Amino acid sequence: RRRGKTVSMSVQKTSKTVQQAEKMLQEFRQSSSTPLPLLHQVADALVQEMYAGLASEGGSDQLKMLPTYVENLPSGSEKGLFYAVDLGGTNFRVLRVELGGKTGQILSQEFKEVVIPPELMVGTGKDLFDFIAGTLASFVDTEDESIKAHFVQSGKTRESGFAFSFPVRQTSVKSGIVIHWTKGFKVDDAVGKDIVKQFQDAISRSNHQIMISALVNDTVGTLAGGRFNFDEETMIGCIIGTGTNACYVERADAVHKWDEPLPKSGEMVINMEWGNFRSPYLPRTFADETVDKDSVNPGDQWFEKMISGMYLGEIVRLVLARMAKEAELFGGNVPVKLLERLTLGTPHVSKIHLDNSPDLDVVAKVLKDVFEIETTTLEERKIVHEVCDIMGERGGRLAAAGLYGILKKIGRTGKSRNGSKKKTVIAMDGGLFEHHVRYRSYMEEALQELMGSDAAYEVALRLQNDGSGIGAALLAASHSHFK
Ligand code: BGC
Ligand code: MG
Repeated sequence: RRRGKTVSMSVQKTSKTVQQAEKMLQEFRQSSSTPLPLLHQVADALVQEMYAGLASEGGSDQLKMLPTYVENLPSGSEKGLFYAVDLGGTNFRVLRVELGGKTGQILSQEFKEVVIPPELMVGTGKDLFDFIAGTLASFVDTEDESIKAHFVQSGKTRESGFAFSFPVRQTSVKSGIVIHWTKGFKVDDAVGKDIVKQFQDAISRSNHQIMISALVNDTVGTLAGGRFNFDEETMIGCIIGTGTNACYVERADAVHKWDEPLPKSGEMVINMEWGNFRSPYLPRTFADETVDKDSVNPGDQWFEKMISGMYLGEIVRLVLARMAKEAELFGGNVPVKLLERLTLGTPHVSKIHLDNSPDLDVVAKVLKDVFEIETTTLEERKIVHEVCDIMGERGGRLAAAGLYGILKKIGRTGKSRNGSKKKTVIAMDGGLFEHHVRYRSYMEEALQELMGSDAAYEVALRLQNDGSGIGAALLAASHSHFK
């Protein structure tokens, strides 16, 4: 009964509402647009905050610019059996790698991945850490005899890197204090305490002996993994998944707030926590406001909420819901499911966006499966497709502006003097970047636009699959207790 009773009524109504919806779509496209000059403004605003955040503790109320105590990235000579645990978005991973001692050489690798029970994401630190320690313990318990024998014979305790993808104020490469949670986690009693100690205590409670040798943000793991796999020109690690963030190699003497002895390497990896970047130049819409208001951390992580995977589906849903209410998209009755929070996931958005069939069959299927909208017209499906395109384009282009800002800060932008180009590699990871190819191509295109055709550097975005885990294991190796 969604449409009129006779065919002619139905057609008339559709075309009128489609016109209205298209008008709203144009307005929405306008308010979400990211022309090149705006991207430059966003990048410049980011650079300004980077300087402020490096100048003093709390120098920027947006970018924490956290020193990671990682002064040397993997050289490739790392060797032996190491573990990593990776606590980040929706899954928890444990892995063991056998490093071969040569660049990019991993002799063997095994992992286990479990979904984090949602109640643990908002529970107590003890419950969360007992869960991850238990997963690690059972991984170790079920290892091959040959591996168990290796540790018995060498007399070495197992060592693990800990990729922890939340803001942490590090006190050493092996310790750090949780500043706050993001991405739907809210484990209040863990805040303000050493995260490694909490984990290490849980490992002891499980009656196992495993030492955490490096605590790293997932971006830092990705950067480390990228260096190990690609080449020395890998300067940035960036995640675009459930959440988003970037780290990069900074000159240690540019970190003015650093009051410890300068590292010998002269370098320090900085975890920017760029998800919390905000600027009047960011093209925010009513949907962004609503997403922020309804989140567990209102007011925080604006940039993250505009570009990362956790929020993309919800933004699209909000736009469609408004079109359904105000322009009768999908007919006179607003589909009930469309008004339910968090029904549309990023994989759905990605599927819709990638549908290039003439009838947009995939779009129809997603609308049916997710929102129980039984029938749709091609015009309606086109509008839905467009909304996903607008948001993917905005996200990808803003992410590119962020990366361009970092490149600018480290002096890797500008024109080539003699036509030759030097190279810069950005190690990338995260589900959105990996699976949403349209998002990714918007991002790549925008980065080229920003760099310009006669740029001094050629920038490559390289997917560093499972970068955070392998990188954490590499950093555990280079910061081994037994060295
Ligand atoms: C966290 C970062 C993390 C990023 C990607 C953000 O929400 O604050 O620490 O690197 O997500 O996982
Ligand atoms: Mg991750």
